[in-house]
Amino acid sequence: MKRIGLTGGIASGKSTASSILRELGAVIIDADAVAHELAEKGQPLYEAYVRHFGCGILRPDGSLDRRCLGQLVFTQAEEKAWLDQTSHPLIRAAMKKELAEAEAKGVKAVVLDIPLLFETGWQKKLDETWLIYVPEEVQLLRLQQRNGYPCAEAMSRIKAQMPIEEKRNLADRVIDNTGSREALQAKLKALWQDLMAENGQTDEKHEKGREHIC
Ligand code: ADP
Repeated sequence: MKRIGLTGGIASGKSTASSILRELGAVIIDADAVAHELAEKGQPLYEAYVRHFGCGILRPDGSLDRRCLGQLVFTQAEEKAWLDQTSHPLIRAAMKKELAEAEAKGVKAVVLDIPLLFETGWQKKLDETWLIYVPEEVQLLRLQQRNGYPCAEAMSRIKAQMPIEEKRNLADRVIDNTGSREALQAKLKALWQDLMAENGQTDEKHEKGREHIC
């Protein structure tokens, strides 16, 4: 089974690309979704956070106050380091389990949607990496539009990450998303179809379309 790491910079279009790939029939393993599930009440990350930070990070209903946790680690580097050390192995283990399940089902290619792919060094364990790329000035505009941040805040969030140009040097494929969403969709469709052809897996939706035309 081919394992593709999909990543980007903040607001470069990774989530947009991930949903396009899902529509094309790709199996997506989403690191953020996995992390979110692990922090649900009673799950292993939730338990670890409560043990470490105390009940002050809980809402009255006992669920995790994610904003409060975010604030804590954003302002304290040591707590951020603790959180990364604690959460990354659990997230990896859960993603590996999903990978094994996909493999058991005979899936030929899986996309792992990982925002911090290069920062965590996970690319070394994967077969290929795809970067959804836009230059920093486009990132800045789209981030302001999406989140309503003032320019200075958007810039500081971009600057807090590994520069996208650095990621560009690390990625096997750079998928430029400076153009329209339709252009991104066309690029991903071509890539996905090539991959399916290489790996001998028929794309069901595509196959059905062909049958219909015939
Ligand atoms: P990421 O997941 O990398 O943070 P998103 O997929 O959320 O980025 O995209 C950032 C913002 O840019 C969103 O508001 C999204 O709708 C928009 N966007 C994504 N691709 C394009 C595009 N090709 N043209 C215009 N806007 C786009």
